[in-house]
This record gives sequence, C-alpha cells and structure tokens, in this order.
Amino acid sequence: MDRLWTPWRYSYVSRAEKGLRKGVPVELDAWVGDHACVFCNMIAAVEFAIASGMEAKQAEQAAHVVHRGSFCYICLNAYPYSTGHVMVVPYRHTDSLAALESAEAGEMMALAQSIERCLRAVYRPDGLNFGLNLGEAAGAGVANHIHLHGLPRWSGDTNFMTVLSETRVLPESLDVTWERLREAFGEA
Ligand SMILES: [Zn+2]
Repeated sequence: MDRLWTPWRYSYVSRAEKGLRKGVPVELDAWVGDHACVFCNMIAAVEFAIASGMEAKQAEQAAHVVHRGSFCYICLNAYPYSTGHVMVVPYRHTDSLAALESAEAGEMMALAQSIERCLRAVYRPDGLNFGLNLGEAAGAGVANHIHLHGLPRWSGDTNFMTVLSETRVLPESLDVTWERLREAFGEA
C-alpha cells in the first residue's frame, strides 16, 4: 500500500504495470519517454542521460551498452545464455534484416567481427554462436526490433537449441562482463 503515500512510486509502478519503459536501467530512470521497445528504450535512455550531463561511460555502463557505433550499438544480453552473450542492435526499429540500409547492415557485420575478436581474446572459447532470430516463431525474444546475437561456447556445453530455452548459472556478473568487453573494445 506504500503507493498511496509515495506518488512518485505510484507513477513508476503504474508505468511498469503497463509494460512500459522496458530496457531503461534504474540508474537512468529520469528518462521520461517511452518507445514501447526494449532496444529503443535502452539507447534512448543512454542518449538522454548523456544529453542531460551524465558521463557517457557511466550512462553506457548503467545500460550495459558496450559500444555505440554510427548505425548500431552493442549491448549485453540481460538474460544471457552464456557468459559474454552480447547483441548488435541497429538504431533503426525494424523486424527485418532486409529492411536495413547497406551501411547499417555493413556496420552490424563489422561490429560482429569486432565482437568475435573480443570474445576470443577475453574468454578463449572453443567456439562461438552468431545469428539472428527473425520473428517469434524463430525464437526471437524481442521480435519487433532485430538484434544479432554473439556468444562464446565451450566444448561439453549443451547444444544451441537447448541453451536457448534454459536459464543458465553464470560464473560472471553483467557488470564484470561489461568491464572486460569494454576494455577489449578499447573503450575503457
Ligand atoms: Zn525498437
């Protein structure tokens, strides 16, 4: 019942109950807009925080954004299938890979290459998975905004399809993963 006595909290709870502001980290809660999309919200919150005077690194860390490119950004998966699970997300809100301009698709692939280099350097995996799930039927958790997954794999790991449906026990926090990959990207 504390909401009766804390209007600011009621406002926050009512937004949450409507499923809004997904992707906005608590530290960036001052952000007041909503695009009803986890990926659009995430990057909008970061950009709003920076425009409002927050240091870029601090804003990116709060959202676990590893890198912001010209057309795409890289962030950690908040519900990773394995340690080091990152995603390349175009700023453009689209459910279609084919809808991307060539420069957007090109940067998406270039950032995937950078991720491969970083994941190999940081985690020394036996292999890696890279790919896109287009549509809920294909396994996309967020079907309306495409995102390219990249994650390290180790021998003896379960296969990819099994991993997709499991909650994994992770040996490393997202904050630590962000620090390590950020440094590997040369943006420490
Ligand atoms: Zn979006």
